[in-house]
Amino acid sequence: MYTDTSGVGRYMIYQPTLASYVVFDLGSEPSIRVGERALEVRERTIEGFIEESLYMTLLDQDIHPTVANRMADVFAWQIDFSRLQEGDAFRIRFEEQYVGDEFFDIGDVLAARFIHRGDDYYAFHFQRDEVDEHYDENGQSLRKAFLIAPVEYKRISSSFSYRRYHPVQKRYKAHLGTDYAANTGTPIMATGDGVVTEARYGQYNGNYVKIRHNGTYTTQYLHMSKIKSGIKPGVRVKQGDTIGFVGSTGLASGPHVCYRFWKNGEQVDHRREKIPSVGPIPDVHRTEFLAQRDRYMAVLSTPITPIRDRSYAQLLETPQELTSP
Ligand SMILES: [Zn+2]
Repeated sequence: MYTDTSGVGRYMIYQPTLASYVVFDLGSEPSIRVGERALEVRERTIEGFIEESLYMTLLDQDIHPTVANRMADVFAWQIDFSRLQEGDAFRIRFEEQYVGDEFFDIGDVLAARFIHRGDDYYAFHFQRDEVDEHYDENGQSLRKAFLIAPVEYKRISSSFSYRRYHPVQKRYKAHLGTDYAANTGTPIMATGDGVVTEARYGQYNGNYVKIRHNGTYTTQYLHMSKIKSGIKPGVRVKQGDTIGFVGSTGLASGPHVCYRFWKNGEQVDHRREKIPSVGPIPDVHRTEFLAQRDRYMAVLSTPITPIRDRSYAQLLETPQELTSP
């Protein structure tokens, strides 16, 4: 509370975040004003090896854990971050936002390299006009036309197979889908943009939704406890939109989503498909992108050193300060 010369309380200042503040003027003409403090953006490059987990590797180096989430977002279509292995490694250049000298938030991942199971994955952020994407080293978007799974699942309870033992019907038959076990009521997402072609109840499928994505791909989601209201034939959906909720309606032994995937009219195992990316860098930006990629590639491509080796190397390089003057 700030007072004017009469000693009567007049202003109150509330700071919801470091970067913004609200001034309540309680004087004769009360008003509210919102102000913003300038964010200073600093670039930082870090690297590390996975020993226990990505979080632990970041914590060991005093790096904000949000960086792990940002990396998982960037590589969501390439790497399953719940399945990282000891020996996986990364180098990443990202933005840190400061207000004055105080840390505020993690900004964009500018460039990243992740070595997972011996394979190199690269990401380069590019933002111009309407473009705001992460691309791989060849200028292909890292975002894919389809999500890996339609639901945040606990486990895959049954894989795609031409011959499996059916737990309810107690006989061998083809299972042309992937079962994702999850709690009843968990939201089910459209795995790609498209138009709903079916949304109804069937004796075996239970409540289900079918989506046509384009001339090549169609997906279907079975056994919902409930189809989301408004989801009906002809409705357009975006990737990640909720279309229903996990259940066990129809022929199902427990709550799960049976996810089915058609390519050119044939049911295929989506986990074995090479899923196309959203699109390459637009031609008008290609030259500029490649120049930017090369600058970051110089930072990313040198070998990543295990921390133990690095501290040993630093020991060796420590200047001898004990020599007498
Ligand atoms: Zn199934």
